[in-house]
Order: sequence, then C-alpha cells, then structure tokens
Amino acid sequence: MTPEARAKLMADVEAYCQELRPIEELCYVERRPNDAIRDLALKHNILGILVPTRYGGRGADALTYARCLARINREGTGPRTFFSGQSSIGQYPIMKYGSEAMKQKYLPASCTGGCTLAFGLTEPDAGSNPLEGTTTYTRKGDRFILNGVKYLISNGSIADAVIVFAFPEGKTGADRRMSAFIVPTAGETFEKEALHSKPGMYTADTAMFQMNDHPVPADHLLGEEGNGFRIAMHTLISGRLSVASGSLGVIEDCLAECITYSKERHQHGKPIAKHQLVQDHLARIEVMRATSDAMIERAAIAKQASDEKPGDKDLLADADYAVALAKYWASNAAWEAADRAVQIFGGRGWSELYRPFRHLQDVRVCRIYEGTDEIMKLKIASKVLGGKEWEAFK
Ligand SMILES: Cc1cc2nc3c(=O)[nH]c(=O)nc-3n(C[C@H](O)[C@H](O)[C@H](O)COP(=O)(O)OP(=O)(O)OC[C@H]3O[C@@H](n4cnc5c(N)ncnc54)[C@H](O)[C@@H]3O)c2cc1C
Repeated sequence: MTPEARAKLMADVEAYCQELRPIEELCYVERRPNDAIRDLALKHNILGILVPTRYGGRGADALTYARCLARINREGTGPRTFFSGQSSIGQYPIMKYGSEAMKQKYLPASCTGGCTLAFGLTEPDAGSNPLEGTTTYTRKGDRFILNGVKYLISNGSIADAVIVFAFPEGKTGADRRMSAFIVPTAGETFEKEALHSKPGMYTADTAMFQMNDHPVPADHLLGEEGNGFRIAMHTLISGRLSVASGSLGVIEDCLAECITYSKERHQHGKPIAKHQLVQDHLARIEVMRATSDAMIERAAIAKQASDEKPGDKDLLADADYAVALAKYWASNAAWEAADRAVQIFGGRGWSELYRPFRHLQDVRVCRIYEGTDEIMKLKIASKVLGGKEWEAFK
C-alpha cells in the first residue's frame, strides 16, 4: 500500500466516523442495529479495507487495518464488530484459502455492498472448544448437505454468506476432521434468528442460525477437506487483532472524553482535572492507551509477516502469540479505562446518555468473543513454558 493510498483510506475512515456518530446514537436509543452502518461504509468505500485492490478492496496491510478499526471503535464496539464479521473473519479466510473462482465470486461483491459476510464457528455446546461441535456435512452429487446450529454469530442474521465449520457425518476418531465452507444463506433450509437480549453493542447484529439439509455447491468448500480447524485458528488470529484494535479505540475515546469533561467540570472551586485523584485516573487511562497501542503495533507487524510467508510455522506461532497478548491486554485495559472514565464523569457517568458508560457496556464482550481471557492466558502460558506441548487445553 502506498503512503498516498494509506492517507486516503484513513481520511475515508475519518469521514465515515464523522457521519457514523448520529447513527450509532440512534442504534443506542432504539436498541437495535441500523442498515445505515453498512450503507455508509459503502459510500466511503471501506467495506473491503483488507481486500487486495484487484478484487475491489483497499489493499491495507495489517497495521493500517488495525488503525482503521481502532478509529471506527472510538464510535462504538458495535460498528467495529460489523467490520470484524465482514472483513477480519469474513473476507480474510476467503482471501487466504478460497479458490480463484470463490475469490472472484465473493470478494468484489463484499466490497461493493452486494454480499455481507459472517463467520460461524460457535455452537450452543461448542464455544472455547470448537472440536466439540456437532454441525455435519455429507456429500451428495455436486453438493454438500449441511445440518446443525450456529450460535452467537456476528452479522448472522444479515449475512448473505457465512464461513461455516462442520464435521463429516458419521465419522469418528481421526476421520472426524472439521472442514470449512462458504455457505450462501438464501433458502428455507437456512433459518436465522437475531438475538436481542444483549446488554449493549446494539449496533451489531448477533444471531443464531440453523441449517436443515442445507445444500452448498461443492466448489464452496473452503481450502482442503479436513483442514477446517487450521482455517478457523488462522482466522481467529485476524479476529483477535480486530478485537484488540477496537479495544484501543475505546481507550482513546474514553481518554478524549475525560480530558474534555474534567477540564469543564468544576468542583471545590477548580476544574476536577486539577484534583490529584482525578489525574490518577487520567494517567492510568493514558498508560492503558500507550501500552495497548505498542502491543497492537507489534502484533499487527507479526501478523503481516506471517501472512506474507504462509508456510512459515515460526512466523505463524509468533503472530498467534503476539495477537493473543495484545487481545488479552487491550480488552482488559479498555474495560478498566471505561470504568475509570465512568468514575470521572461521576453521576453522569452512570448513564447511557454519556459515552463512557456505553463503552463500558459494549467493551465487556471483548474479553469473551474471539477467544476468552482464559483461553488467551492459556496460549500465553504455553508459549512461555516452551510451546504447543504445554497447551493446557489439550
Ligand atoms: C456478541 C458476541 C458475538 C460473537 N460473534 C461470534 C462470531 O461471529 N462467530 C463465532 O463463531 N462466534 C462468535 N461468538 C462466540 C464467542 O466466540 C464465544 O462466546 C466464546 O468463544 C466463548 O465460548 P462460550 O460462550 O461457549 O463459552 P465457554 O467455552 O462455555 O466458556 C465458559 C467459561 O469457561 C472458560 N473455559 C472454557 N474452556 C476453558 C479451559 N480449557 N480452561 C479454562 N477456562 C475455560 C471460558 O474462558 C469461560 O470463562 C460471539 C459471542 C458474542 C457474545
């Protein structure tokens, strides 16, 4: 990506965010997603930030994409989660594992608003361990037939196609190996249901869907048959970097809000920014911002290096570790930063009318989705202990 293309992209993202704020406000008031989030992204040509230009995208490297996501998440974790579903875990596995025909079919359409994407790994009884999933596929002529339920899927009720992970029907033991499919969602055999009981992040669509003998064309197998677990794990590295970057955006916005508010609000005869205990909160939020920023930069550079040399196991392991570290740190830092921001706002802080409390509500999920805090810590611990043989979840 040239410096000019990067500058233009960042300017487009900034323009998007300026127009996004009132829509995000409306989503919060109405407590439901709004298609304008997607339409506006199309208007500013940012539906394919990661996608190579030859497929109609902006061709951003991992670090530039991370910066874009941080900026978008200053407006809210909901809009950034839409981009994650569409790009980090939607377009990315197609870019990395799709055949040329699948890239031609899905990438340009996804960049121009004709195809919203999602990633369907989690099931009601398989979250942290996707190998406990029960979704199945079987081959029938020129189609695969899929059966099963996927749960808590971002963009799940608005997606035109979902990356779905499934096991071969009737296989056990070593033959029971997960495969990945690009699954078009049209038709009565694919039932979607939006989940509404979320305490925040209203902008994002979260859904479950059920496939009942759902037919998928044979050429929609993603990568090689039996390679689904690897595809899922690589894609989650991309998704985790998105969560970490979004968390940084939360911290940046909380800091900006607190600087303004603490200079304007007077108590005990001076701006509250002049009280040392308020400055303690501000200093700690800034420490969270600076450390998260540094870790995300390191993680994005490691991921980019791994993407550029797909067969290199050491680079992949380094990216996996650096991203887990950044995701764990930044999502916890954002939670703490939002909590401190609520405190600085006092009584107004405990209100959805002000941004800190919205961030606090929204960002909590960043410690859960794309791999929980606990799973990130297990990854980090196995790395310091000496590698894969120390993984506690095996
Ligand atoms: C808003 C939202 C959006 C989401 N979007 C998507 C999406 O787009 N696609 C998708 O596939 N999924 C998505 N998810 C699902 C998400 O990734 C899972 O919720 C997450 O991975 C945890 O799985 P679980 O909820 O089944 O929890 P569980 O796996 O049941 O975990 C419950 C608790 O046990 C802990 N635990 C589990 N195993 C271990 C272990 N070995 N050691 C220590 N502790 C352990 C966990 O850390 C957690 O604290 C989304 C979830 C939410 C809430």
